[in-house]
Amino acid sequence: MTQLNEPHLPADPSGDSAWETALAQLDEAAELMGLAPGVHEILRAPKRSLSVSVPFRLDDGSTRVCQGYRVHHNVTRGPAKGGLRYHSSVDLDEVKALAMWMTWKCAVAQIPFGGAKGGVAVDPKALSRSELERMTRRYASEILPFIGPERDIPAPDMNTDEDIMSWIMDTYSMNHGYSVPGVVTGKPVSIGGSRGRAGATSRGVMYTIFSTLKSLGIGIEEVSVAIQGYGKVGGHAAQLLHDAGCRVVAVSDVDGGLYRDRGLDPEAINRHKKLGGSVSGCPGAEPVTNAELLEIDCDVLVPAAVEGVISVKNADKVKARVVCEAANGPITFEGDKILSERGVFVVPDILANSGGVTVSYFEWVQDIQAYFWSEEDVNERLRQIMERAFVEVYQMAEDKGLTMRQAAHWIGVGRVAEAHLTRGLFP
Ligand code: GLU
Repeated sequence: MTQLNEPHLPADPSGDSAWETALAQLDEAAELMGLAPGVHEILRAPKRSLSVSVPFRLDDGSTRVCQGYRVHHNVTRGPAKGGLRYHSSVDLDEVKALAMWMTWKCAVAQIPFGGAKGGVAVDPKALSRSELERMTRRYASEILPFIGPERDIPAPDMNTDEDIMSWIMDTYSMNHGYSVPGVVTGKPVSIGGSRGRAGATSRGVMYTIFSTLKSLGIGIEEVSVAIQGYGKVGGHAAQLLHDAGCRVVAVSDVDGGLYRDRGLDPEAINRHKKLGGSVSGCPGAEPVTNAELLEIDCDVLVPAAVEGVISVKNADKVKARVVCEAANGPITFEGDKILSERGVFVVPDILANSGGVTVSYFEWVQDIQAYFWSEEDVNERLRQIMERAFVEVYQMAEDKGLTMRQAAHWIGVGRVAEAHLTRGLFP
């Protein structure tokens, strides 16, 4: 187990990496709000970063070793909270950025958690189910001292699902000698998961889009939507928005996308995806690339895949009036500046995609109380939190002449800073 404590590097606002984007956003918010320099310095670096080597047995009997990470950016407002991602491009800097965004996200939603993130640099599609289980259990064992219901609560993120959460919960529980459901969220309902968690991020994105349209005076049924990413978040969002009466004109996944001006049918796309594993090639729609999808003529663009897809290279070509960030960090710092100069209304990730962690919070509360809620209760409480957070950010943006991202950071960073100043510096 290695504890890394890195010296601070100056932010490069023109850099395209997630970490450069996250630092530049924090630095900008700190300047706008006149943040105390000591607190700013504390918030620029994660509280702890753990780097672990994850050896596991492949089905052919050989051994493979992957690199894993778990970062606690901040725990001043409560236990560290954040997902776990499996992707070949995962590295420490990416996990640090994602952990920092979790800190602000929890603060904006006013849920009593700090920010964390974990990742393993692996392509999970290249592993069998049993290899994935052995790798997950070994990763969980390596980060065991870092996690716990009062310490740090992992959850699903890119390429991780409720099976992976079950294995982590089981590994942790076996080590403790009793079941500890509150150690992870996004679990199956049968072992303490929450109703409504699976679709919570997408449902939150939908509520945020509705709040945005209401504020801008646009009717729900008038809008066309393009969604990049058709996984847990994008796929579900396409269905919810279609059911709500929006015209979903384009969707895509890693293999490519689809466009139909009159609107796509998510049910037909889901059936096609089940057969071939991708949305690409679904009959009745024109093919589009992922790059083309971002530049499609539509009202609302929902990047729901990876970081940094809108940057200085393409921000001037985005035609949507609204961009709602369902992914974490899909727009670079400089890309964001171009969009705001062009008058595009950007709803930032730390507001728009907080539905997932909000229902994770509900799950943790239900686990601790051993008292479970109906799906209607979960969805209604989620709606209230998302709408309140939107109104707070929108009001601040209006009052102070800020972008929605600047306002969300001001609120999120401000709440964390207030907690630091209230608690004082130890020792
Ligand atoms: N991975 C999700 C996110 O980025 C959810 C995290 C959680 O539920 O803890 O917000």
